[in-house]
Amino acid sequence: MSPERIIDLRSDTVTLPKEEMIEAIRHAPLGDSIMGEDPTVNLLEKKAAELLGMEAALLVTSGTMANQIALMSLCQRGEEVLMGEDSHIFTLEGAAAAAVAQVQIRTIEVPDGKYDVSKIESNINVGDIQRPKTSLICLENTYNLNKGQIVTLENMKEIRAVSRKHNIPVYLDGARLFNASVELGVAPADICKEVDAVQFCLTKGLGCPIGSILAGSKEFIEKAVLNRQRLGGGMRQAGIIAAPAIYALDHMIDRLSEDHQKASRLAKRLAAIDGIRMEDVQTNIASIELLREDWNSQLLIEFLSTKGIKVKNIGENRVRMVVHYQITDEDIDRVVNAFEEFASVFSMKSTV
Ligand SMILES: *Cc1c(COP(=O)(O)O)cnc(C)c1O
Repeated sequence: MSPERIIDLRSDTVTLPKEEMIEAIRHAPLGDSIMGEDPTVNLLEKKAAELLGMEAALLVTSGTMANQIALMSLCQRGEEVLMGEDSHIFTLEGAAAAAVAQVQIRTIEVPDGKYDVSKIESNINVGDIQRPKTSLICLENTYNLNKGQIVTLENMKEIRAVSRKHNIPVYLDGARLFNASVELGVAPADICKEVDAVQFCLTKGLGCPIGSILAGSKEFIEKAVLNRQRLGGGMRQAGIIAAPAIYALDHMIDRLSEDHQKASRLAKRLAAIDGIRMEDVQTNIASIELLREDWNSQLLIEFLSTKGIKVKNIGENRVRMVVHYQITDEDIDRVVNAFEEFASVFSMKSTV
């Protein structure tokens, strides 16, 4: 209907590779990466390890694969892993923790992206043979893919102290790690200092077409290489995946703050509309709740789609919008206008 271009706010995973990325792919030296001979993959893994302050890093095909490899490498079958109840590993990986890594998950609430350290500690079991043995604490930062909440460095340090006390490793699902580090003004390596292993997604705000980076100690990555192979994740000329990733590490991290500013501006303007409540926006994710009883997500999504705007349905009265590098200031204006029109059209229509 609309001649205007589509504004896709469903996720930052919809981002397309930049022209510079395609160009980087075209010129990347390639080799067999299972044999360790792809120079572009080797360079990416070295750069990523340095950036994260970890001994070693490994390119894998997805965040889900990185997470499952981490579980397989840090836990034994039948052991228990603690994590927040909204964690991607628990909610959105097709129960791979049970079906593939064969660990049991125990969840705790993480209100507003703050982990309750006493709750973590009280759920740790290491001695009782009838209870599952706790072998890993999994954090997520930013936390909750519908909220993008920042876990503070102080909170991570507290968790680190508990993990040391009980000799249990900490893994960070840092799918959006750089959104946290840019917003906190803290180097990624300073965040990763508080964990034993970490993954970040190349495919979200960084705009790459494929891939995640898993990082940790040399010993951890040796296990991870084997587990990646077992999952069929060993790749050959994977330099075509690594080349845009190298571009992303050099050019796509610092600019994430622009996404945060746009998300925050969007949220402020939408919050001014009667009948809409905004979740607190900390990074690039803005979720809204529709407060009027005669409104619902489906109604809103259908209306927005006639304006060329896509948002994600995350509940009967809730939708999510994620800002990424392809979203411009003009797009934000168009989105706000569309919401205002929605509010006025559907206020007038509603009769008692
Ligand atoms: C997107 C995401 C993942 C999974 O990444 P895929 O590459 O889609 O498998 C894992 N954890 C979090 C927190 C994510 O947002």
